[in-house]
Amino acid sequence: MIGISLPSAILNGSGSFESAHRALLSAYNNDPAQMLGSLRARGVESVEFGVRDRDADPAAAARAARCCADTGLQVTIHGELRGDESPECFFHPYEALQGQASYIITLHGLADMNTTAAALKTLAAYADAHMPRFYFALENNRRRPGGGACQSCAQVAQALKAVDHPRVNACWDFGHFYSNVRNSFESPSPPEDFLARAVHTHIHGLTDGKTHFPLNGDNLPLERYCALLAARGYRGIYNLELDFRRFYPQIEPRTALEESISLLKEVCV
Ligand SMILES: [Zn+2]
Repeated sequence: MIGISLPSAILNGSGSFESAHRALLSAYNNDPAQMLGSLRARGVESVEFGVRDRDADPAAAARAARCCADTGLQVTIHGELRGDESPECFFHPYEALQGQASYIITLHGLADMNTTAAALKTLAAYADAHMPRFYFALENNRRRPGGGACQSCAQVAQALKAVDHPRVNACWDFGHFYSNVRNSFESPSPPEDFLARAVHTHIHGLTDGKTHFPLNGDNLPLERYCALLAARGYRGIYNLELDFRRFYPQIEPRTALEESISLLKEVCV
């Protein structure tokens, strides 16, 4: 199944629009429903949006999810782990979400391994008791100074081992991983214990060393990475994660999105 990440402001009609996001929406006549319908017709079946503001009215995430559901799209969420808050506070923006049997929330690790594992354990136990439709995917990051405890896939696998909870698995960010491989920080394939735990993906191209660019057939080993997952029975979403702000106005957001979807469709099922 193919998914795409979109700014939540476009979906729920609130918050500030950056110029790149305005350009994306205006290419679909400033009509979010038309945009989603057009993307659905191109084979997109899932949308990921960010929920990071803990004080946000739970109605905002629910509105974004409904906007997707009205077009026959399911949703996943990009959340944020903080480690210094109660699970009640973490889950507050999700309280009004309904319509799906399960939701995957992708999270980045914290600064160190122990606090990352402890925070995830707390959230997983709370979800078991109170929010059973929510599952977590811990994402591998691009290596950078101060980049936290989960910069490599091996580190994510180590954190998952420490958490040891079936509700907490991995998001393989292809673009971050490829950047690390190019910088000789990781070997060309992720470790087996990471691949076995992958339940979600983030897919984007690496152009001039910068991640979250559109796919161009040459800036990510897309076919090989998808094959690694398929060989292990992966049934999750192949989620395109572009950051339109990084390449607008050099590349038109709508063109970037639609051409990347076409490339993804050739490879993923
Ligand atoms: Zn990502």
